[in-house]
Order: sequence, then C-alpha cells, then structure tokens
Amino acid sequence: MSRIDFPCDACKYLRRRCIKWCIFALYFCNKVGNTDFEVIHKVFGSKNAFNLLSHLLVKDRNEAIATMIYEAQARIQDPTYGCVSEILILQQHEFVDYYANLQHVQNQIPPETNHIPELDLSIAGDIDELGPVVFGRH
Ligand SMILES: [Zn+2]
Repeated sequence: MSRIDFPCDACKYLRRRCIKWCIFALYFCNKVGNTDFEVIHKVFGSKNAFNLLSHLLVKDRNEAIATMIYEAQARIQDPTYGCVSEILILQQHEFVDYYANLQHVQNQIPPETNHIPELDLSIAGDIDELGPVVFGRH
C-alpha cells in the first residue's frame, strides 16, 4: 500500500495529500499519532517546520523533530519562557551546587589564609526573578 493511500499523520492533520517523498512521513506515521505534529504546527507552523527540516541532513531530522516537539510543548505550557524556564531552573540548581562546593572549599581553608571574600549572592527563588537578569531586562 502506498503512502498516497494512507497519508502520514502530519498530512492528515493538515488535510492535504501526502506525496511520495513527504518530509514528515518518516516522523509522523500512524504509529505515533498526530498529536506531536499538532503541537509543532500550533507553535512553529507547518511551513516553518518543513523549512527547518529541509535544511537539515536526513540523519539529524529525527533529533530536530524531537526537540521541536519538546520546545513546542514547553511553549504551550509556559507561553512566556517556553523551555527557557527549564534551562533557568537547571542553571539555578547548578549554581546552588557550585555555591555549596565553594563554601565547602572555603571552610577547608584556615581563616588567616582565606582571602576569598565571602559571597553574598542571593539566589532568586522564582523564574520571574531570574528572567530579567538572564535576558537583560531591568
Ligand atoms: Zn505526509
């Protein structure tokens, strides 16, 4: 049975004819379901997704689809920050770990030889506090 008889889920969602070399067919087959393409279409638009995929090597397209789905889902959940909110949270956790390690090292150094100034960095407890710092808005 040809693909023309059974369009891929992206073409089904877009209500268009699925051509033989449809760029979406390998990634949005009927096994996956069309919900993934739906979020990509809502956030990026199908034409932008097509353009992005068409400029990539075939070997990289699967990862690109996976990251577009991830980014689109994050953007739907958090329209302001999208997946950047998760990156900021990870950076915040990383900062807390580095700060704890620095304090541990500082505690190992005798006070008379410890010339490292005490850090007094407050850690933002909310993504809204980190956003302006990261993006330069004040
Ligand atoms: Zn198709």
